[in-house]
Amino acid sequence: MPILVRNLLVCFLFTILALFLALLWFMEHRHPSQDYSKLVERLANDQIVMLEFTGNKVAFTDQDARTFVTTVPSVAQFLERVQGKDIRVVVKQDRFNLIYLTVIAVFIVVLVMVAWWSLQRSKNEDNNFASDKLVSLNGDDLNLTFDDIAGIPEAKEELEEVVSFLKSPDNFTRIGATIPRGILLQGPPGTGKTLLAKAVAGEAGVPFYSFSGSDFVEMFVGVGASRVRDLFKEAKENSPCIVFIDEIDAVGASRTSGSSAGGQEERGQTLNALLVEMDGFDTEDTIVVLAATNRPDILDSALKRPGRFDRQINLLAPDVKGRMKILEVHGQKVRLHPEVDFEVLAQATPGFTGAELANLVNEAALLAGRNGQDQIINANFDKARDRILMGVERKGLIMTDRDRKVLAYHEAGHGILANKLPDSDPLHKITIVPRGMALGQTQQIAISDQHAYSKQYLLSKIIVLMGGRAAEELVFKQQTTGAQGDLLTATQIATDMICKWGMSSTLGPQAFSIDSGGFLDGVSGRLPMGHDTERFIDQEVNELLSNCFAQALQMLKEERALLDNLVEILLQVETLDGEEFDIIVDCSVKKEAVATEFPEPDCSTCNARENCSHATGVEDEIVA
Ligand code: ATP
Repeated sequence: MPILVRNLLVCFLFTILALFLALLWFMEHRHPSQDYSKLVERLANDQIVMLEFTGNKVAFTDQDARTFVTTVPSVAQFLERVQGKDIRVVVKQDRFNLIYLTVIAVFIVVLVMVAWWSLQRSKNEDNNFASDKLVSLNGDDLNLTFDDIAGIPEAKEELEEVVSFLKSPDNFTRIGATIPRGILLQGPPGTGKTLLAKAVAGEAGVPFYSFSGSDFVEMFVGVGASRVRDLFKEAKENSPCIVFIDEIDAVGASRTSGSSAGGQEERGQTLNALLVEMDGFDTEDTIVVLAATNRPDILDSALKRPGRFDRQINLLAPDVKGRMKILEVHGQKVRLHPEVDFEVLAQATPGFTGAELANLVNEAALLAGRNGQDQIINANFDKARDRILMGVERKGLIMTDRDRKVLAYHEAGHGILANKLPDSDPLHKITIVPRGMALGQTQQIAISDQHAYSKQYLLSKIIVLMGGRAAEELVFKQQTTGAQGDLLTATQIATDMICKWGMSSTLGPQAFSIDSGGFLDGVSGRLPMGHDTERFIDQEVNELLSNCFAQALQMLKEERALLDNLVEILLQVETLDGEEFDIIVDCSVKKEAVATEFPEPDCSTCNARENCSHATGVEDEIVA
């Protein structure tokens, strides 16, 4: 019986019971009650015309045909008072309790039967637990091979060894080698962990059991552990095979963290069962357990012990070459215009994971389809990338003119500083069109993948972040909530500079906080330290941020003319890309240079447009 039907049946039974009890209650209380003394008094005054007895209860009807109920202490004694009077007396059997008890009994029996069915059903489900998770070898998923994966050559190489072992274990066992039993694929979301596991199964052509850690997490203590045992029993019967446990942190989290109560106990038992089963392989059991996680930091150390998940493979966001290869893999599935250059696109997508790149290609294809194009062109990729990075345009949002102006100054402030600071990433786009959660955005994209950041680069980043608030203060002498995100990011960078990277001149090269080692954001904590040190750190962070803000303000004061000019254009065109921005800055610079040559230049819109070498093209592009 499916769970939904089972639940509906139980609800139905409860509803019937409730209705029945309500009916009985209504029958019982359909007449108002009166005291026994009232009945005696009315009997004595000959006001009663009918009496209806049900056990000790009596319903009496008066001359006005009104009926009341009451309970008599002794029916026999009461009847003596009635004798000789002209009153109709009816005696009924008291079936109320009988009916009541019967209904309750039937209900309990039905409920027990439903519970029993459910139990049987769960047992059957658990018996088939492992075999239900067998992914068909003929299915699309297991047609995957290593060719479908790009950009992670080291991981592929590691797993190729596993594939050779699964294909011909004798080559390894005859010289006494044992392949790692467990391989842990760890990395941020979307870096291809699941894909890699499926490709191993596809390449090796062996049964592939795919589980999620949460499949083992149940409300009842012991269910998860029994599922683990079932899984390994089935795997041993079908070896050689691959068992894949995605999001293993759901069951493999450290037993020392948290309390030992409730769900912890169930998780602990499941984890113990997993540890025991992984120890229990024989050398001839050709089973490889692959597991994936974004949180290796919280895994129980017993899981990573040699003999269990002793091989760990890190999957990180691909580098520029990797991104190009991944784009090529996904580009094969769509129709591309010959102008599309994945090398350029890969350079413009630093930090994108495999999943984001796959999404980029698909978004571009959707855009092309929506426009009725036959092929995907570069512009589709540009739009798709903006959509992924900045969110969907919120066309319906209405802003007042003043808010738009404040927003334009805020974004222009970021933009000018990004453009002027030599260590800053180049400006990619600046927009005052609300997208996603943000009202406006200034986007910078690094020229190349960076793996280590200099202090100067980080300071530039903070100054650029401060540019929005600084521009608002400079022009409007006010502060707005628009800087919330900037301040948060700036504070995070400043804190990390001082606490993690030893970039404080006062505190020196010392670390005060530690990353947990997980691949999800925001998992770090401060090391134990004294109150004085904490106070110093807070002071340092504050000083660093204040200095950066002062610098941002000063730079914008110096570039006030450019700022005003930029805002004017931004309010007209709403979005400027990096090239357009550079041209406007160029025009502005040339204005000074030109102004000395030509005493009265005509600079009405872009100021000095006519005298600027880029001018004519720019205006058309921007206005269009
Ligand atoms: P999570 O940790 O969130 O489970 P994951 O690391 O398991 O993520 P996958 O499910 O393997 O990520 O990847 C999602 C999709 O991203 C894949 O179906 C594939 O289309 C694409 N992808 C990711 N990495 C690669 C890659 N290296 N080569 C080609 N495609 C990739």
